[in-house]
Amino acid sequence: MKIGVLGAGQLGRMLALAGLPLEMQFSFYDTSGAPSVGIGNVFIDQGGTGKDLDSFLADVDIVTSEFEHIPLDLARKIESRKMLLPSSESTRVCQNRGEEKRLFTKLGIPTPKYHLVDSLAAFESAVEQLGCPVVAKTVTDGYDGKGQAVIRDPADVASAWNRIGNTQLIVEKFVNFSRELSIIAVRSKSGQLAFYPLTENTHHEGILRYSVAPAPRISPELDKQAQCYIGELLEALNHVGILTLELFETEQGLLANEMAPRVHNSGHWSIEGANCSQFENHLRAIADLPLGDCQAQQPTCMINIISEKGDIQGLLRLPYAHIHLYGKDERKGRKLGHVTVQADSYKELTWRIRNVAAHLPGSPEYHPTENR
Ligand code: AMP
Repeated sequence: MKIGVLGAGQLGRMLALAGLPLEMQFSFYDTSGAPSVGIGNVFIDQGGTGKDLDSFLADVDIVTSEFEHIPLDLARKIESRKMLLPSSESTRVCQNRGEEKRLFTKLGIPTPKYHLVDSLAAFESAVEQLGCPVVAKTVTDGYDGKGQAVIRDPADVASAWNRIGNTQLIVEKFVNFSRELSIIAVRSKSGQLAFYPLTENTHHEGILRYSVAPAPRISPELDKQAQCYIGELLEALNHVGILTLELFETEQGLLANEMAPRVHNSGHWSIEGANCSQFENHLRAIADLPLGDCQAQQPTCMINIISEKGDIQGLLRLPYAHIHLYGKDERKGRKLGHVTVQADSYKELTWRIRNVAAHLPGSPEYHPTENR
């Protein structure tokens, strides 16, 4: 099967690495002008003018995507000519934080209190009604904490509006969560479902740094609750492929933060940590093949390599470290690769994570959540 991928970054690269053993072939459609995928046929259409779209589509049987910020008219145009999975409807909802929140609310999935605003006056009124602190986010295009502001004093609203205000913002009540979790699930074309375990995520300066799976100290009820939420989202969107739901764990239970209609950084642990990785399961789902086993074989952690590659030689000497580099040049805040470690216990895992982090300059210290 010939798979076309919209986007040509590390997620596309890892999809291809998972699909080659299944005799899949890959073509990528890049609109950034800077593809880093390093594998398969790459069609570059800088600025998304539609140039080369015909050649890309002629080269593939089915199209999927490694990012959700695709212009909707492009997604629909592709959909009118080839099978696009997930569909443009999943993209439409997941590229807009307002639409996501509306769907959470419609399905009864708890989410932080929020207001959608499109003027400074509406922003001020939302902050007054919610009460500080609040988090303001651009409704579209934000990622890795970009386009966001935490407002602790109503006097700061105008400067936040000038800095991130565009046509629309979502203003959310700041949540005092105990930790951040994500759940990744997959739905095949014929409706089969499979769920990866809840994963515990640690962010630093808005960027994911550590993902531990299965998240420690999760009750069967909480796991079931998360599966129930994402299962409802998959069905409501008629989604085919991987869907990721980011959650806050609070004393009152889980709150849905946002979702992504694609393979996700918090699922990279599954390459070594599960029998079937998120990448392979995404491909199986869109190709309508039986889904693979999502269970974590043992406590596993993914450590992101951000900004600088660090001491790769030193990492290669650690017998338990699996190193993935994405073929990208160093730049502040850029995801350059990741390392996966596994261990028989969470205690041993913590030591291994710290040994890896010691080779990565700028890595925040790793603290298991029970010690925070
Ligand atoms: P997001 O782009 O929505 O995933 O937000 C980036 C990060 O900001 C999250 O991973 C959280 O650490 C933090 N954050 C987002 N929304 C809230 C909120 N309502 N309350 C507290 N922290 C938040």
